[in-house]
Amino acid sequence: MDRVLASGMVAQGPEVAAFEQEFSAALAGGREVVAVNSGTSGQHLGMLALGLQPGDEVIVPSFTFAATANTVAVCGATPVFVDVDPETFTIDPAAIEAAITERTVGIQPVHLYGHPAPMDRILSIAQEHGLWVFEDAAQAHGATWQGAQVGTFGQGGMFSLYPTKNMTSGEGGMVSCASPELSRQVRLLRNQGMEKQYANEVAGFNNRMTDIHAAIGRVQLGRLPGWNATRQKNAAFFDANLQGVVTPVVRDEASHVYHQYTIRIEGASAEERDAFATALREEHRVGCGVYYPTPVHRLATFRSEADLPVTEVLAREVLSLPVHPSLSEGDRERIVAAVNDVAKAGA
Ligand SMILES: *Cc1c(COP(=O)(O)O)cnc(C)c1O
Repeated sequence: MDRVLASGMVAQGPEVAAFEQEFSAALAGGREVVAVNSGTSGQHLGMLALGLQPGDEVIVPSFTFAATANTVAVCGATPVFVDVDPETFTIDPAAIEAAITERTVGIQPVHLYGHPAPMDRILSIAQEHGLWVFEDAAQAHGATWQGAQVGTFGQGGMFSLYPTKNMTSGEGGMVSCASPELSRQVRLLRNQGMEKQYANEVAGFNNRMTDIHAAIGRVQLGRLPGWNATRQKNAAFFDANLQGVVTPVVRDEASHVYHQYTIRIEGASAEERDAFATALREEHRVGCGVYYPTPVHRLATFRSEADLPVTEVLAREVLSLPVHPSLSEGDRERIVAAVNDVAKAGA
């Protein structure tokens, strides 16, 4: 922070450039990345840069945070909602294929909770139909699929740096770009359409990251691998000790970074799941959360008639437990005892 203030450059400057270089180096695959002021901005600019236009359709899961679909909608395009795999909570490739129309231009898979979507199958569908893929990796910094990091599969991808994510810059986002043309376009859109000052080439935004945020992000980036390893250790403890609830599945191809550790109260109604959460919070002082109680396609924003049975079940049954790297051994034991107790009482 002192370094940033002493430099006299508080807006996008040398810290942002260094953060982009370091983030890119950590993202094996040699991708260029562009820093922006939020994950949502990154998704928005990334898809605009890929040419998204009014009238286009983009296939997205409904079981996600609303930004995934909002960023399609604010481009004037239509998010087409499809169902997810009940075990990994990620977009179902068969459902993608069934949703393709002559208006479809792209697919936006979400690596939800830190578990990668099945990128090999998604890429082969995209190639067959001439579609782009833009990855929503907001929750999955460092996760891998078949050994390659998420955010390196699609034409583009976005990482969020919001404070609750596996790493943060205060607020911020990174766009990973497969081509120099795409990164140039995202850079233009980020800064009023200018590469050279006052020589605006396209109509753009002010979605720049500040050097203050970048300085925070650089410190956090160095700590990410250790934090992810601790999240994985916490998850392994839960996997081994929780009883009476469905624990998260990890595919053989995947390394899961547990942005959330999400259990299912199988067969529960939304009220029963909420009562489970209330018991954990009030009787056992265990914080927990529901991500997300209303599928995006049913929000007032979209009111889609899509029939997504797996999504509906998951929205009723999921509950996320604390898995963050600062849990103590005692915390983990207390969480396990609490969940097992509430599950037993409800069985
Ligand atoms: C957090 C998040 C976003 C948006 O990122 P922000 O940095 O908050 O704008 C988008 N998609 C998913 C799945 C997220 O979890």
